[in-house]
Amino acid sequence: MDILIKQARLMEGELKDIAIKDGQIQDIGENLSYPAQQVIEAQGRLTIPSFVDVHTHLEKAMVGVESGVNSLEDAILAFGSRYSSLTKEDIQTRARQVLELAIENGTGTIRSHVTVVPEIGLIALEALLELKEKAKRVIDLQLVAMPAGVKYELDRKTLDLLEEAARLGVEALGGAPHLALNPFEAIDKTLDLAEKYDLAIDFHVDETDEPDVRTLEYLADQVLKRGFKGRVVAGHCCALAAVSDEVANRVIAKVKEAGISVVTLPSCNLYLMGRKDKQPIRRGVTRVRELLKAGVNVAYASDNIRDPFRPFGNADMLEEALITAQVVQMGLPQELETVLRMGTYNAAQAAGLGKLYGLHPGAQADVVILDARDPAEAIITQATKLYVLKRGRVVAKNKKQVEIYLPW
Ligand SMILES: [Zn+2]
Repeated sequence: MDILIKQARLMEGELKDIAIKDGQIQDIGENLSYPAQQVIEAQGRLTIPSFVDVHTHLEKAMVGVESGVNSLEDAILAFGSRYSSLTKEDIQTRARQVLELAIENGTGTIRSHVTVVPEIGLIALEALLELKEKAKRVIDLQLVAMPAGVKYELDRKTLDLLEEAARLGVEALGGAPHLALNPFEAIDKTLDLAEKYDLAIDFHVDETDEPDVRTLEYLADQVLKRGFKGRVVAGHCCALAAVSDEVANRVIAKVKEAGISVVTLPSCNLYLMGRKDKQPIRRGVTRVRELLKAGVNVAYASDNIRDPFRPFGNADMLEEALITAQVVQMGLPQELETVLRMGTYNAAQAAGLGKLYGLHPGAQADVVILDARDPAEAIITQATKLYVLKRGRVVAKNKKQVEIYLPW
């Protein structure tokens, strides 16, 4: 074996050894005794499949904040004002900073939406496709081609660019239909293209506090009508928090039936939503608990990192787990395990990673050993990611060093 991890504590609590060779998990069981080039003593520490950060914006990340941004629309316009100064090199430099943080923080797969608009053409996509190739030994990068703007149109030029993006190689097509001039038409046209190129869909859905914005229900109806089940991700779904329970229950049932994964992005919503409210301020976070209860696959992710949309973020899925747990009021040990699953297994399902993901023989050996005994401790203490493995190789090690001087 290349690596043998001894005494790894799985999320369910059992202690197992994990044998790794040729980038894959070969065996997992008690007291494995394979000869191995490297033995890692996990000593009962929590060992999980790597995090999957299923919703980010790498070409925007690290660009810095902007004054006067008081809404999602303001942030879109603020980034749009930088279009003319974007270069491939600049995009790659900033995206690399995020990837480095993500790797050290135990993320094995990161999905980025990529702006595809006539003003910048495919420059961001080309920059990130190059980076994807360079990065693949240390992190998998998935890309979602996304038309953008406030009141954007899926005109011929934009559709041609999306088709070109599909041919160049993206995992999914996206957009923010509630911001399109004609939201339903934007959903239809994007689904048409996804079917044509056999791609998944990953939309920003109803990222607004307004209850009368209802593209999620239309999306679910169309997915069911077309039989496009299981290949659609709906990010944000903020407006679901603003509608009545009766409407929410109806929409959630359709989302479940359509096999749509919902990705909640509390960090960005908390920062950008409800800006026009007096107290109490709506926070724009979707109905995570109700969605989970209905059996919908729900994940959380980072979204924007240090750009006009959100000045914060460290590409750290444990940090996002803590924010998510607090905002959706999930604090019991079992609930915190659910939250950790939302950033790992559920996110992997949303990203379509299939059987390659997880801790079982045949899975890609993307593994993180955390300095914690269980998910609750990992999230609450923001545990150090002692070892990060990608495709069976150690790609990061972290150590926490503390000197403390006590009076007792
Ligand atoms: Zn986003």
